[in-house]
Amino acid sequence: MTRTQKLALVGFLACLMLQGCKSEESKQDSAQTSNQIEIDSTPKAGKDEDLFKKHGDKLKEKIEGKDSSEQQPKPSEDGATWSKRPKGLLQSRKFSEDELKEACLEKMASFPGKYDKALLADVCSDLQILPSCVSRNGQPIYHYNRPSRRKDGAERILTFAVTHGDEIASGAVARSWANRLSRISPRNEWRIVPVLNPDGYDKKTRTNAAGVDVNRNYPSKDWDEFALKWWKEKKKEDPRRYPGPKAASEPETICSMDHIEEFKPDMIISIHTPLGLLDFDGPKVNFPQFSKLPWISLGTYPGSLGRYMWHDNKVPVLTIELKSNVDQALEKFDKLQDISGQVALTVSKTSKSGEDKKAAN
Ligand SMILES: [Zn+2]
Repeated sequence: MTRTQKLALVGFLACLMLQGCKSEESKQDSAQTSNQIEIDSTPKAGKDEDLFKKHGDKLKEKIEGKDSSEQQPKPSEDGATWSKRPKGLLQSRKFSEDELKEACLEKMASFPGKYDKALLADVCSDLQILPSCVSRNGQPIYHYNRPSRRKDGAERILTFAVTHGDEIASGAVARSWANRLSRISPRNEWRIVPVLNPDGYDKKTRTNAAGVDVNRNYPSKDWDEFALKWWKEKKKEDPRRYPGPKAASEPETICSMDHIEEFKPDMIISIHTPLGLLDFDGPKVNFPQFSKLPWISLGTYPGSLGRYMWHDNKVPVLTIELKSNVDQALEKFDKLQDISGQVALTVSKTSKSGEDKKAAN
């Protein structure tokens, strides 16, 4: 698929979202005007969002070769499973503060776009690391914490960037957010893991040093049944999307799971490229608009963070799919950070009011 076709699809889907897809007739009109795509014109019973979701799947299928007929699983009812992750990958290597600072400055300074050197030096001097957070090749996977100005009850937002080593714009946004956080007293409590896959970043590969796609390696409930099957049958064994020999086989996956277990986020943000959209796996909320990226629901995959955390564990995941080049517009992404914080607050209120209703019943 050409870039033009992708843009046409994204435009068409944004149009569907804005117009609300009121009628079958208007859907067919839209399909006719973007004639590079074959949208199934069979009327679908149900609500607008069902229709929208269906076309979101079409988009993903066109871009990633996903079969849109694949059933998306229903969110699990039986609560958290992440603490049941496999143990045994904890690595013994310890890093000094200077080693963390040096690794941080080296990687973070290499991301595209302008940044404030003094702020980055502050961030890289104030890092932490969990015991399991050592990459397959022995690099530290550090993180930056910024507590909320609120005394208690702050929403906790965990952000991962550079899960895919060749998506360097995601690192630039994480750097921009961490630098900004270092000079403000935020409403939410933030944790940023700016380079989850440092070995992949060094080689500029999507996968980690073992050739595993970390975002297909999470132990979703359907991993054993579907992850390798999906990779073989739908992806024709595309090496960029290898889910690993077994669920949670990779140190980067375990590190990320340990962050989830330790930080207990109310929402997870995962920053990627290059689709240019915002994809939310979580409860239904009204999304604040961000002019640079439309909200488009794409569904999840076996072993992906969204399937593992939202479908299996009821922790919402906001996937930010940047366009590949954000160099000139990093300040615009401050606004996206505020929007993300707003989503976390809304989600938290939504789930709290749900709990209240349950309690009242
Ligand atoms: Zn990615």
